[in-house]
Amino acid sequence: MTTITADDLKSLIALIAEAMTRERDRLCELDGVIGDADHGIAMELGFSAAAKATAELDPATADPTLVFNTAAKAFLNAVGASSGPLYATGLMRAGASVKGKPSLTDDDMVGAFAAIAKGIQDRGKAEVGEKTMIDAWAPAAAACQAARDQGMPLEECFSAALVAAQTGMDATKDMIATKGRSSRLGERALGHIDPGAASAAVVVACFHAFFSPQ
Ligand code: ADP
Ligand code: MG
Repeated sequence: MTTITADDLKSLIALIAEAMTRERDRLCELDGVIGDADHGIAMELGFSAAAKATAELDPATADPTLVFNTAAKAFLNAVGASSGPLYATGLMRAGASVKGKPSLTDDDMVGAFAAIAKGIQDRGKAEVGEKTMIDAWAPAAAACQAARDQGMPLEECFSAALVAAQTGMDATKDMIATKGRSSRLGERALGHIDPGAASAAVVVACFHAFFSPQ
């Protein structure tokens, strides 16, 4: 059993921001094929702003909910693309899912992860199969919860989530988009990975790395 503090969550967000900086160009290239080539910039801006805003929180008073809510607001303010409100809603939902808790248990952490996925889905109204980030997030959240229900430690839960996210991401290659910018392309989007699903797999990989012993 792990105890996850507000400071741990700040470190996790900082880890995601670093990963988005590394992955920015690849994500922009993916978006360049079926969108407007800004997805890597959006994700880097969003998570960098979230990391900066949460780092500035007073450690004496910041609880997990405040960290998630601060990250959400910073992400929304920094990002004009459609991923802005989607991730902001996901992060706000994660905050709501742990309200009043001074620190998080493994169950709380898996619940917060699932809340991000559910928030994104509620906000964007995408279903699995529509070639969006939900094709990575929804199976990742389900696999994570299933592993936790079997009593797996967080490392195993996020390992299962990562495999599911990557499988979901790969599956977007064979999909035609019915939500978002790439839906205008029809069959021309076939054969290309959805950038939002690719960045979701990066986020999930960071959760996995963060909760895996070095
Ligand atoms: P924009 O399309 O405004 O430039 P981004 O480039 O930041 O925004 O993000 C594009 C990604 O957003 C897509 O690859 C897709 O995964 C995701 N997306 C778009 N619309 C939705 C939606 N309604 N629900 C979930 N994800 C969506
Ligand atoms: Mg874009």
